[in-house]
Order: sequence, then C-alpha cells, then structure tokens
Amino acid sequence: MKLDYQTLIHCGPSGAPDPQRAPLRSSWYEIDLDAIRHNFRQLRAHLPAAVRIFACLKRNGYGCGAGPVASALAAEGVDGFGVAALPDAVAIRHMGVELPILLYPGPLPSSADIIERLGLTVTISSLEELECWRAEMDSTRVFVKVDLGFYRSGAAPSAVGALLAAGHAYDDVNVEGLYAHLSELPSQTAFHVSEQRSRLQQILELANASGTRPPIAMVASTAGVLRYPEMDFDAVDPGALFIGVSETDHSTRPVALRPALKAISSSLVSIKRTDTSLGTAPDLPGYQQGMVIGVLSMGWGDGLPRQLPPCAEALVRGRRAPLLPPVHLEHLRIDLTDIPDACFGDQVLLLGQQGDQTITQHEVATWWSTDIVGLYGQLRDHVPRVYV
Ligand SMILES: *Cc1c(COP(=O)(O)O)cnc(C)c1O
Repeated sequence: MKLDYQTLIHCGPSGAPDPQRAPLRSSWYEIDLDAIRHNFRQLRAHLPAAVRIFACLKRNGYGCGAGPVASALAAEGVDGFGVAALPDAVAIRHMGVELPILLYPGPLPSSADIIERLGLTVTISSLEELECWRAEMDSTRVFVKVDLGFYRSGAAPSAVGALLAAGHAYDDVNVEGLYAHLSELPSQTAFHVSEQRSRLQQILELANASGTRPPIAMVASTAGVLRYPEMDFDAVDPGALFIGVSETDHSTRPVALRPALKAISSSLVSIKRTDTSLGTAPDLPGYQQGMVIGVLSMGWGDGLPRQLPPCAEALVRGRRAPLLPPVHLEHLRIDLTDIPDACFGDQVLLLGQQGDQTITQHEVATWWSTDIVGLYGQLRDHVPRVYV
C-alpha cells in the first residue's frame, strides 16, 4: 500500500487530524461544538442586539481548535475574532471564514505580508508602533489599544488622543476600533472597574469632540461581560466564556454555560501483572508487589502535568482506577489491580464519561494544580481533536 503522508497528517474534514480516519495516535480530545454554539447563543441572548461579539480564540481557541470553533461561531452570527498569534488567524482563514480578525499584541511588522494577505487588523499602542506597521504595509487596519489600569500593553489614556488623531490623519490607515482589556489584577474591585470605565468614557468624549472616535469601543472579556453590563460599549471580546468558563461567582447575567471539552481520551498500550522477578516494588505511593500495571499513551509531553497527586484517577471499563505518578514524556501508569477485565487497547478517559462514571473538568483541573482555563491551556495542538 502506498501511503499518502499528507492525507495521514491532515485528514479531518476541517484540516484537523481525525483519529477515526487516520489513527496515528491512540489518544485524542473530544470537543463538543454544540456546547460552544450553545454558549454563544446564551451570550447573544443576554446582550443588547447592537453590541457586537468578537470571539477571543487565542491559544488555538483555548485548545479546542481555532479553525473549527471559528467556523461554528461564524455560522451562529459572531461578528469577528481576536487572536494573539498568527497561526490561529491562519487556521480561521483556512476554514474560509472572512470575518474581521483582530490581532492582539504579538505579531510584528516583519509578518506584514501575511497579515495584509489575510486581511487582519493589528493592534497599536503607540505612535512608534503605528509608524513601524505603516512602513511595512500598503494599508493598515488598526485597533488602538488603551491601558485603563491593567499595566500591560495599550497606550496610557493621556496618549490616546494623539494616537487616534495620527491614525485618522493618514489615508493608508483605517482605525476600526479602540479597545482595552480590563484589569484582572487580584486587587481589582467594582470601584476599579468604574474607574476604568470613566477613563474610557473620557477618552471617547474627547474623540467624539475631535471627530476621531472609531466605530467600535470594546473592553469586556468573560468576567467583564458577565459582571458589568455597563461595560458593553459597542462590542465585547470574551474567550473563556465560549468553552464554558464563567470564571466568576458574581455574574450579573445569568448565562448557563456548558463545557466544551467532553473527553481526554487515551488508550491502554501495555498491561502487566507484577511479581517478585521484578525485585521490590518502587517505594512510592500506590506501588505494591503483585499489582497489575497498565500504561497509557499520554504523558507530560502531551500536556499532562509532570506532577500528579496520588488521588488522581481515570476511567477504564466504566470504573475509576488510580493513576500512578510520576508522569513520563509520553506515558503514564495506571493501577489496574481492581479492573481484571481491562484489555490491551482499551480506551481510558482522563476526563469524560464512561458508563455511569464521570470525571469532571473541575476534578482534572484540581489534580493538574490549575483552574479550568489553565486546563484548556494545557491542551496540546499535536493531540488530535474529535468534534462530537
Ligand atoms: C484573553 C483576552 C480576552 C479574553 O479573555 P477571557 O477572560 O478569556 O474572556 C479578551 N481580550 C484580550 C485583549 C485578551 O488578551
């Protein structure tokens, strides 16, 4: 048989590897696109109709695949996207999605050629940045970024007027919007939010007066859109919300979100009953002589943490079995002593539902010493995603 390597690597309908069509790997993620569509509809239903939605799909759509997620949201009527890295913009355009894409700070003018060809909008935070982009592009679409008190990128409020005026004065520059990311520093309070809001309002008033107010003012990401409806302005750019993370216990908008990650699926690639010919059992929690050890086809190179607590579990044949740290690069042990019917090749879920047992994303995030967004951030691009 002659192998078509291109087909093997890029074989899914979306250009994403699909283990059902090319089983190159025995582990994969199951992504529930319906949940992502549901989360979008929830947000849309709670927002005034005039407020546009730019879906933030950074880090490959929070690990769920920027291309397929963008395509699903485009069909639902999303207005545009925000990404921080060019490969995510390429993945969206590769799906034939032509909606606006805002590049958050990240790409540089050395990538101007691909940025122009893909019709992307860049972020500028200073006059220097504006001139560097102009030098490399025939025409430059920009969003001006403002720092309202986050102390990250963005022009200081005092510098925004000059930046808007400069962009407005150039024929080769189109200032499409003005945006900010709300401060999520641990010290943030409702008072800080209202302070940030009045800073932005002052900027917009001055811009209105000078005729340089861009059509879009956008500040609210997930926490902002759920807690502070007064921060809606012309558009919002949440990201975590679409994967089902509400991040806040203080939602003003009662959205009911569903998790996008349905399963982290792995396989038993080896099973062995240990005996005395192996010498004494390792002096580690969970190891004992005579135990049955299974080996899974996933490790810390596939996004698992290097350290797992001894209480971490996975599902085999509908039952919970203890994982056996430490985690290795592409392998992880599991204690199968109480699952005598486990077989070579069995599917093992590190997250998801098997029979009447479910391992939730909250459990996994705790075992991985992170939160839900951190868990999605650990999803690796080389692990295939199956859309269910
Ligand atoms: C990450 C990010 C977002 C989305 O934040 P969430 O908390 O995931 O909703 C929006 N805007 C900018 C500029 C960001 O960096």
